[in-house]
Amino acid sequence: MTTSLFFLVWGLATALALPLLLPFNARGVPGVRAFTIANALAVLSLLAYASAEILPPAVYVMVSNTSWLVVVSVVYVGVGQFFGLRPQVLRVGAAAAVGIAAMALMLYVTHDLVGRMMLFSGYTGVLMAATGAVVFRQRRGIRTPGVILYVLLSLSALVVLHALRAGVYGSGWAQAASLLEPAPWGLFFIVCGSVTVPALFLALLLLIQTSLSEQMQAALTFDSLTGAYSRRSILDELEHELQRCARSGGRLAVLVLDIDHFKSINDRHGHAAGDAALRHFAQVVPKAVRASDRFGRLGGEEFVLLMYGCDAAHALVQAQRVCDALRDSPLYLQGQELRMTTSGGVATLQPGDSADGILARADLALYKAKELGRDRVEMAWS
Ligand code: GH3
Ligand code: MG
Ligand code: MG
Repeated sequence: MTTSLFFLVWGLATALALPLLLPFNARGVPGVRAFTIANALAVLSLLAYASAEILPPAVYVMVSNTSWLVVVSVVYVGVGQFFGLRPQVLRVGAAAAVGIAAMALMLYVTHDLVGRMMLFSGYTGVLMAATGAVVFRQRRGIRTPGVILYVLLSLSALVVLHALRAGVYGSGWAQAASLLEPAPWGLFFIVCGSVTVPALFLALLLLIQTSLSEQMQAALTFDSLTGAYSRRSILDELEHELQRCARSGGRLAVLVLDIDHFKSINDRHGHAAGDAALRHFAQVVPKAVRASDRFGRLGGEEFVLLMYGCDAAHALVQAQRVCDALRDSPLYLQGQELRMTTSGGVATLQPGDSADGILARADLALYKAKELGRDRVEMAWS
């Protein structure tokens, strides 16, 4: 009775992640369906043991063990899908099917309790270690500190626990007994399991939540079409840099760029070609300047480059390099060469400058460059 209650608590603790996983299914996050199925089956596996008093062993042991083998297999597949890999679903499915058949054989025919324990823990240890290896290899896909560590710890805890279980019972150190018989080692594994299994699903939930919030952050930070910094983040960056320069007296130059005759690209080649031209522009410009400079899209075909620690003379040289680079790097659209040019206006930081002030001066210089024939840069008056 006591151990049945333990399994009930363990099952309910594992079920806590389920209502939190469900809403993510509608958002189509890769791997979430697998995590939800695994969570539901883990709960089923534990509740089957909790029902040991009312179900015959031939039923609850098989339901519980079978469900668990599927749980770890599906977690492995789901983690692969989450990271955009192609997990070997057929191979994992075949391994699970063989495991289930062996489990049935040892339960119904050979009545081999130790064999079942070895299979259960061995299968779990191997699959969780393989899942941990995938997470470790893909660790750069999640940047928020601590998240990958938590996922790896929860997977490692399961690997260690099942290795210990296989060692303890496999070596004959402890008498193999059903989990329902409250022997000390049995209780130890139940208590550890009731922490590590819910922790695994919390870790998967954390992975999904973090990935979505990082995607949202990236959508705010970067322009979706060109990959350049978004208007909002480049203007925030300009404000920060102005404050930093005001405090410590640094130098800053701002280059506002506008693609020449861009409308005619749209008109002659179509809007998709115009988009390709914008992406091309956003690839060429950062390559022509220093890696430390920050490049963002203000809107339409207008961009801005923040050149840190740059005086007027250097800024002009850099801006000219941008114009030259674009002129010398035609875009190839369906075999057709499309030459692009840009005009630019440069303004350098003046004492007491605001973001609007420096941008307005750079804009005036840009208009002058347009008036003077385009494909050139002009310096703003201080
Ligand atoms: P100028 O040399 O004087 O700068 O002329 P322009 O044709 O480059 O400038 P204009 O302001 O007349 O046209 C800008 C065009 O950019 C108009 C607008 O439809 C187009 N545009 C703005 N945003 C996008 C976009 O995201 N994609 C595409 N394809 N076109 C865009
Ligand atoms: Mg424009
Ligand atoms: Mg233009």
